[in-house]
Amino acid sequence: MLSNSIRLFRVAGIDVGVHYSWLVIFGLVTYSLGIGFFPQAVPGLPAAEAWILGAIAAILLFASVLLHELAHSFMAKARGLDARSITLFIFGGVSNLAGEAKQPATEFLVAIVGPLTSFVISGVAFFVATSFTEPRVEATASYLAVINLLLAVFNLIPGFPLDGGRVLRSIVWSITGNLRRATDLAANMGKLVAYGFMAWGFLRILERDFLGGAWIILIGWFLHGAASSSLDQVVLDTRLRRVRVGDIVRPDTFTVPPGLPVAQLIEEVLLPANKRAVPVQHDGQLIGMVTLSDLVKIPAERRLTARVEEVMGGRKGVITVRPADPLAHAIGLLSEHDFEQMPVLEGERLIGMLTRADVMHQLHLREALDV
Ligand SMILES: [Zn+2]
Repeated sequence: MLSNSIRLFRVAGIDVGVHYSWLVIFGLVTYSLGIGFFPQAVPGLPAAEAWILGAIAAILLFASVLLHELAHSFMAKARGLDARSITLFIFGGVSNLAGEAKQPATEFLVAIVGPLTSFVISGVAFFVATSFTEPRVEATASYLAVINLLLAVFNLIPGFPLDGGRVLRSIVWSITGNLRRATDLAANMGKLVAYGFMAWGFLRILERDFLGGAWIILIGWFLHGAASSSLDQVVLDTRLRRVRVGDIVRPDTFTVPPGLPVAQLIEEVLLPANKRAVPVQHDGQLIGMVTLSDLVKIPAERRLTARVEEVMGGRKGVITVRPADPLAHAIGLLSEHDFEQMPVLEGERLIGMLTRADVMHQLHLREALDV
């Protein structure tokens, strides 16, 4: 789940949550429907009722986006990928699927099923709007028909990371057999689409539609960022695909004993070696790590008397990797926990430290040599 989000409930093993930014959208949608759309669509509607209908329509919009994302997640599960969570945020939803599709067909199906769901919801809402004569039901259903149609069409724009961009990528991937090239194309299309949105937003602003223009520019900005970062991710994955932790870890078996005084650790180990963290070992076994953040917590006068074992984090809190682990897995752990480094263990014996800097260095080398 994205950070800054609230977990709501769980459907078929998938956590559903909303990002705080979504609350802003909920307010904006309710406001614009309550003050603009409903009073116009249903003449003579009391203001309070218009607001209530606005909130109901906003919740139904939430449900529509959720169904769209659930469709992605269920298809991913059916094709053997792991779907963990869905977060609804300001521009729609994000499904957190573990791992990328290994076949173009999987990527195609997972991507296309979302917009198809939105089309179906739009169709159902259209049917309701035309079969009921109750003006409030009719207005709400028409709104949902239009918004879901827009949702489907917007998501089918063929630029990565929109669903349409994934569809495009899967098609190019299946034709060329080259995931990297397919991603390049889809991501560049995504950037082009993003520039298009930004240009359109500026035009709107020139035409004095400041809020609408700013909103469209923001969407373009977001799409551009997302297209670039998905490209980076694929570059990282393909460059480092066959690399294992053991291939790049530098042997570094330096540890300190648990009984070392903290003052000595700082003066004789951390400062001279320019280190932020040191593994603690006892009887040939890793028993914990002592890091800068452990040390800043203790008052200066305690440093003289305290020993490492009193301030260090225990073995349970230390996340480690093995030499045979894929490097991509280790990178995932480093960024997930926001670590600078991780101990590499063979059994319980420390053989080295994997650092963020080593990973970046390796990536740059491979880029430069085009390996
Ligand atoms: Zn989608």
